[in-house]
Amino acid sequence: MEVMGLDAVLSEAREAFESGKTKGLAWRKSQLAALLKLLQETEEDILRVLKEDLGKHRAEAFRDEVGLVMKSVKCHLDNIKKWMAPTKIAVPIGAFPTTCELVQEPLGVVLILSSWNLPIGLSLEPLIGAISSGNAIVLKPSELAPSSSAFLANTIPKYLDSKAVKVVQGGRDIAEQLLEQKWDKIFFTGSMKVGRAVMTAAAKHLTPVALELGGKCPAIVDSLSGSRDMKVSADRIVAGKWGPCYGQACVAIDYLLVEEKFAPTLIELIKGTLKKFDIKPERSSRIVNKHHFERLSNLLKNPSVMSSIVHGGSVDDKNLTIQPTILVDPPLDAEIMTEEIFGPLLPVITLKKIEDSIGFIRDRPKPLVVYAFTKNEKLRRRVIDETSSGAVTFNDTLLQYACDTIPFGGVGESGFGKYHGKFTFDTFSHGKPVLKREFLNEFSFRYPPWNGQKIEL
Ligand code: NAD
Repeated sequence: MEVMGLDAVLSEAREAFESGKTKGLAWRKSQLAALLKLLQETEEDILRVLKEDLGKHRAEAFRDEVGLVMKSVKCHLDNIKKWMAPTKIAVPIGAFPTTCELVQEPLGVVLILSSWNLPIGLSLEPLIGAISSGNAIVLKPSELAPSSSAFLANTIPKYLDSKAVKVVQGGRDIAEQLLEQKWDKIFFTGSMKVGRAVMTAAAKHLTPVALELGGKCPAIVDSLSGSRDMKVSADRIVAGKWGPCYGQACVAIDYLLVEEKFAPTLIELIKGTLKKFDIKPERSSRIVNKHHFERLSNLLKNPSVMSSIVHGGSVDDKNLTIQPTILVDPPLDAEIMTEEIFGPLLPVITLKKIEDSIGFIRDRPKPLVVYAFTKNEKLRRRVIDETSSGAVTFNDTLLQYACDTIPFGGVGESGFGKYHGKFTFDTFSHGKPVLKREFLNEFSFRYPPWNGQKIEL
């Protein structure tokens, strides 16, 4: 699409917003209902495009994308009226008689740029909140999931108000052209590198941004006793590493932190679960493309990294597949430990004492989530108090992403801006305090000439 084309897309969306129609409850509800209908009627098409783009199994595609998004639409439909309603704000007695309320207003025309690993979910999840808070929207899904992107571009206009909800297809060049425009908010899901470019472009127009980025999510695994707890942990670790999109997920475990003496037991348990869950390339989501296959293969090529492989490690450059791979203590300055892995490789970093995991995490950029498997209350407390991350999840993985009531987002290098459930509504709204006063009670000491007294509210 030419720049003029994008200009026209944006001006039509702006016109739709300025008409005021997106602000009404009826429009918001009708669009959410239409989106739910879209999901119900085209479920098979969505499962098919996710298979085409990523080889996603239909069960995984439903669990991580279609099902979660349906749940979100229902959550917004059920709550939107309550969320839109003004809420009272207390005013100090000194200002009597004054009332104040917080009125939620939509931001305007918002841009959503999404990534390829959950190409439907990560496009529609923010879209739901942008609709429920009354905005006009331009969505650009990732070009690396072309079937999903085409599906969204072709299907959304058939169900939703095509003047106010627009889908633009394209890659970096189109994204850059979009970013030159003036938006009322940019909601970006993607890499840190592109996140910086998005923020730089947004600064020109003073546009607020939400950056949903990635990073290296650690999982601390304490030396658990009790075979059941250990097995449950191994299952949840495998699900949290290879489960979402074969490790290509922002919330996937990047590496494990474990005591030296417990590492061999844990690795055997993980290997057992990999076998039990039958995790292998031909039964998992695909590595998305040759570029990412090569990026991941290159992480293993460093001889010191290669010698740390204790499981898997074989790569097939004809089929672009990589076996689930476990490495023990690869060099900490190797790329596999300095860059986000986003794939099926799992480094296990051994420590003398599990408490050393706190310093390990603190020495690195703030992750999107810290996972910790432990029953030790003191250690849990230290993880909460002494590390910083978008979220902390104890004794499980991924669950925080699936709960509408939990704000999802990063901190520091893993991004900023929370969403999911009401937090998505808030992300796309401006909470505007509206103060009302009558003409009674005029305090002369407010105004000069001053008599030396201080005014305290
Ligand atoms: P990416 O940054 O390469 O691309 C994301 C989006 O930005 C795409 O729509 C793409 O077309 C666009 N884009 C690419 N180059 C651009 C440029 N120079 N200027 C403007 N836009 C540009 O990310 P990706 O490869 O799609 O996704 C992987 C990354 O996203 C990982 O770091 C992962 O952790 C992160 N991620 C985060 C979340 C989250 O919710 N926090 C979810 C999924 C992925």
